[in-house]
Amino acid sequence: MKALVLGAGIVGITTAYELLQDGHEVTVIDREAEPAAFTSYSNAGLFAPGHAYAWSSPAAPGILLKSLWRGDQALRFRFNADPRFWSWMLKFWGQCTAERAALNTTRKVKLCNYSLGVFHETVRRTGVAFDGRTGGLLYLYRSEAALRAASAKSRILSDNGCRIETLDRDGMAAKDPALGPVKDKFAGALYAPDDESGDCRLFARNMGGWLKDQGVSFKFNTTVTGLETAFSSVYTDVVMPGDIPLSLLVEKLTSGCGLLGLPVPRIGAGEPANLVLVDLQGTWTVGEEGYASRSGNCCFDGRELHGRILLTVAAGAVVHRTHTPNEVAA
Ligand SMILES: Cc1cc2nc3c(=O)[nH]c(=O)nc-3n(C[C@H](O)[C@H](O)[C@H](O)COP(=O)(O)OP(=O)(O)OC[C@H]3O[C@@H](n4cnc5c(N)ncnc54)[C@H](O)[C@@H]3O)c2cc1C
Repeated sequence: MKALVLGAGIVGITTAYELLQDGHEVTVIDREAEPAAFTSYSNAGLFAPGHAYAWSSPAAPGILLKSLWRGDQALRFRFNADPRFWSWMLKFWGQCTAERAALNTTRKVKLCNYSLGVFHETVRRTGVAFDGRTGGLLYLYRSEAALRAASAKSRILSDNGCRIETLDRDGMAAKDPALGPVKDKFAGALYAPDDESGDCRLFARNMGGWLKDQGVSFKFNTTVTGLETAFSSVYTDVVMPGDIPLSLLVEKLTSGCGLLGLPVPRIGAGEPANLVLVDLQGTWTVGEEGYASRSGNCCFDGRELHGRILLTVAAGAVVHRTHTPNEVAA
């Protein structure tokens, strides 16, 4: 199968690797000039199952609140008028109970340990260099109370396969002699001997080179534009000239989840409505009402396309409605 990976960050690059292993013909697209030029460019580089706590915890709402007047909080809150932001916040809030935090942490630590195993296997097979360091990570605590609390909290990680040791300040300095001269500033540390570190950007770039050598095709400096033009652009440029029938376009735009083994939405009594109402005779100018996806750099910007989407209903709710020209003018 031909597979297109959108984005050449660490997730896109490793996805391309897995798709290649599964025998697919892979193309990777990114708007930047090389892999890992965005978030994956300079992260902390930690492989840290020993710190795999879910961020949504009973402490999170208080941390977010404090971040309104303190700049040193691990989580930060900024007001945002977008309703999608508030709907996401509500879901996050719902996960901040002790039970959900424990469940999510258990899932996360299992995923971390599994991912680390897959990563080791990938490096073994490809030989890609990434300045990797093994030997564990130290998590430092300044007060006895914080160290005791962290030690108690780490039990959920130990119970799920992580080795974690609690060290006093002498034990901490013995593990990393560079901390010796400043050990009195700390109460001690948690030591996770199986945690590692490495350069995410270097790995992604070297892996990109390796993938290219194996036949993966890369298209850099290429921006993926909002999918809101997908129907009309293909209808105008491919269906109208007669290259493919309309039924094929409709099938390709509606049954994609089948490829992933997910249930394909269908029209039926009692089913949630998943419908798109299209005016095939209607024309519209791309960008005339702005962009739902905010991709103002759309390559179709300003172009007149045929096939105007009037209404989109997803899972029973109206998620998009095209305004009439009169409404737009008003
Ligand atoms: C400060 C910081 C520290 C972190 N530390 C760690 C850590 O220690 N350990 C850890 O595991 N994780 C860490 N993370 C998280 C980790 O870095 C991210 O989860 C990871 O880099 C995300 O990778 P990605 O491929 O999903 O996204 P990205 O690296 O952002 O890749 C997305 C790619 O898509 C491209 N793109 C976006 N839009 C378009 C478009 N319209 N058209 C074409 N291309 C497009 C971008 O150019 C980019 O290359 C950290 C994150 C931050 C911010």
